[in-house]
Amino acid sequence: MAIQQADYGDLILEFINTYRDNKGKPIYLNQINEIIAYRKRSFIANFSDLFNFNEQLATQIINNPKELLPILENRIYEYIIEKDPSFQDEIKKIHLRITNVPRVVELRKIRSNDSGKLITVEGILVKATPVKERLSKSVFRHLNPDCMQEFVWPPEGEFDEIIELPTTCPVCGKSGQFKLIEDKSEFIDWQKAVIQERPEEIPPGQLPRQLEIVFEDDLVDSARPGDRVKIVGILEIKKDSQIKRGSKAIFDFYLKVNSIEISQKVLDEVKISEEDEKKIKELSKDPWIRERIISSIAPSIYGHWEIKEAIALALFGGIPKIMEDGTRIRGDIHVLIIGDPGTAKSQILQFAARVAPRAVYTTGKGSTAAGLTATVTRDKNTGDYYLEAGALVLADGGIAVIDEIDKMRDEDRVAIHEAMEQQTVSIAKAGIVAKLNARATVIAAGNPKLGRYIAERGLAENINLPPTILSRFDLIFILIDKPGIEDQLLASHILNVHAGKTKDNQIIDVDTLKKYIAYARKNVFPKLSEEAKNLLQDFFVEMRKKSSESPDSPIIITPRQLEALIRISEAYARMALKNEVDREDAERAINIMRIFLENVGLD
Ligand code: ADP
Ligand code: ZN
Ligand code: MG
Repeated sequence: MAIQQADYGDLILEFINTYRDNKGKPIYLNQINEIIAYRKRSFIANFSDLFNFNEQLATQIINNPKELLPILENRIYEYIIEKDPSFQDEIKKIHLRITNVPRVVELRKIRSNDSGKLITVEGILVKATPVKERLSKSVFRHLNPDCMQEFVWPPEGEFDEIIELPTTCPVCGKSGQFKLIEDKSEFIDWQKAVIQERPEEIPPGQLPRQLEIVFEDDLVDSARPGDRVKIVGILEIKKDSQIKRGSKAIFDFYLKVNSIEISQKVLDEVKISEEDEKKIKELSKDPWIRERIISSIAPSIYGHWEIKEAIALALFGGIPKIMEDGTRIRGDIHVLIIGDPGTAKSQILQFAARVAPRAVYTTGKGSTAAGLTATVTRDKNTGDYYLEAGALVLADGGIAVIDEIDKMRDEDRVAIHEAMEQQTVSIAKAGIVAKLNARATVIAAGNPKLGRYIAERGLAENINLPPTILSRFDLIFILIDKPGIEDQLLASHILNVHAGKTKDNQIIDVDTLKKYIAYARKNVFPKLSEEAKNLLQDFFVEMRKKSSESPDSPIIITPRQLEALIRISEAYARMALKNEVDREDAERAINIMRIFLENVGLD
């Protein structure tokens, strides 16, 4: 037995008036009062509440949103006006926004049978236009001297993206020219954006799928490029151009956003079961856990212990701190490897991207127009300008793995300083002014400027990166390919790997390691012990003294290195899931910092 459309209006009011949450609170009635008090423009209903209240109403909303939502919205609006007539002076329309819609569709699985339905999609917002005004309802004048009448157009509903002019005048019935009267027309805030599959969802070797989305009214600017979002919307077929003879019969989809949630919870992508947690805690009790983790980084690569150690530190990371004045000190440990060609840099980096709970892999040249930071791009077809997020913004909350960083573009060379230290990206171009979050760890590799690393020359002369960028790395390692005594071992290691003969039971598999890292980053926040503090302080003072004695060294010791030492000790503690940074962690941090400084010629 079907419910009549009019009855759905009654049902939504009954829902608002009678629904109680599990604490007995009338949450939706309270929401109506808030809408009135704060002049809000949206009423937000959780799908599962609607479903518990009335299955048929809930199902109809999902299957038939274009017809049903306006009816329900009108009823809610009327109900509000009844309660407070002055509301209508300020707000002309209430949106009904539904969250938690169970029809979740993967971006690569969107098909035409989803069109017109309310669906949920998840992804990362990669670009957005500035906010514009969409003409929703217009007033036209008939420019015929006999008529000159004004009329509202379209007579019912509102325009979509395309304005369709009347063919004849609805007042006099004659054809002719019509003039838009802008002051009397209604506009609505409008913004177009593009979401893309999250890096960890893209099948290996495939290009990420994208979907255009449209925000309107109070939803504009509710998400920024780089945000991970869960969006409920109505899937529509794009009508970019009018259909005429010879038009293409191929159409794209876009999603008209109904509600949006921004996921703040970093690392929720990695699911950790109770069993996993038990295993992780068990592993952490091994006194050699750090060594086991380090040997599990790119196990097919022979040697390069310090580099693997640095990668492990970057993957675990230190603890970001917010100072009293609101400034933020990063917890991310940025690592750079400079090395001769063929020394497995790319292999190690690819491994890091695979084991990181959230990572974006790219090269210095960038795999998209947005490069490493951000840019303003222009859509060739529509002419729209977009603010587009680059790798460091997309990696917000995770790891940006950048191979061949020395080939980065000039725009990025400027913007990367801010991205690596303040962890934001600012842009002002083509009328778009924005600041995006880029709280990402950088793990990068670069090739020597002269083809091979020349040990006799300094670091700065060997790589095509300015000292200002080099100084933002917490650890830098140099890989020199020198033939010698180790070749036997290297060769037998490579041959064994190829023969599948490396069954080392100390190695932690990629899946477990990934979960271990995610668990540590999410749950472990070690604090410095007094003993660790004293050790780090003494070492820093010693380094400062040395660097002032050798003024032309490539790395100038500044408080940055002290911050780096703190982060590195925190990461060592985190690796063992410890809540305190103890003496041993500080000693390890000092040790790896020493190796780094000796390596780059400061000692
Ligand atoms: P790079 O990026 O430094 O130029 P690659 O990562 O492309 O080097 O490595 C080149 C090849 O040499 C890869 O197949 C890699 O596995 C192999 N290789 C180089 N060094 C080692 C090593 N230490 N152990 C095992 N394989 C190695
Ligand atoms: Zn007319
Ligand atoms: Mg390479």
